[in-house]
Amino acid sequence: MRLIIMGPPGAGKGTQAKYIAEHFGIPAISTGDIFRANVSDGTPLGVEAKRYMDAGEYVPDEVTNRMVRNRIDEPDAAEGFLLDGYPRTLAQVEELDGMIKFTGHQLDAVLSLVVDKDEVVSRLLQRAQIEGRADDTEDVIRRRQEVYLDQTEPLIQVYKERSLLVEVDGLGEVEEVTKRIFDALDVVPES
Ligand code: ADP
Repeated sequence: MRLIIMGPPGAGKGTQAKYIAEHFGIPAISTGDIFRANVSDGTPLGVEAKRYMDAGEYVPDEVTNRMVRNRIDEPDAAEGFLLDGYPRTLAQVEELDGMIKFTGHQLDAVLSLVVDKDEVVSRLLQRAQIEGRADDTEDVIRRRQEVYLDQTEPLIQVYKERSLLVEVDGLGEVEEVTKRIFDALDVVPES
């Protein structure tokens, strides 16, 4: 399975990604997590990414694309993967198309978690208190929402036109949402 999970910041992508990946026996690849690991290890990639992340801006495509390319070249991703947080721009969509085409496979589905914008802002503010993420302050959260609407939301239409989009209601208890996702994905044939 080659899957993407999409949704605005705070939609619960990361939480659901873990369950889906486990279910299909594929790695969940979160660009946000990889960036954060690099930031805490103080790698050159982390130093570069931090500037953007702390401001709620996207890391430049070139940097992000290279990182994802390296990650999906790892042996554990040979049979499939679930991307969480990538692609986020049209340029990243094209880059990913190239990467997958190169392996002779294709995308199976793009899962879109549909949530209420106000609800997710309050979720993010709650998470800020628990996890203390540097980009979970109110101003930065608002900026991330803006950037999402401007750059990433249009991708939903792109995948819809390719008939890859699977929309799932992302509101409710975590287990309920997981069940909806599994019900929706089990009808997607594996390539
Ligand atoms: P969110 O909870 O806002 O969806 P993530 O954990 O997925 O956040 O990502 C955190 C930050 O990492 C983003 O705000 C952005 O700066 C950077 N980032 C993650 N994925 C990408 C991407 N595909 N392209 C550019 N920047 C990214």
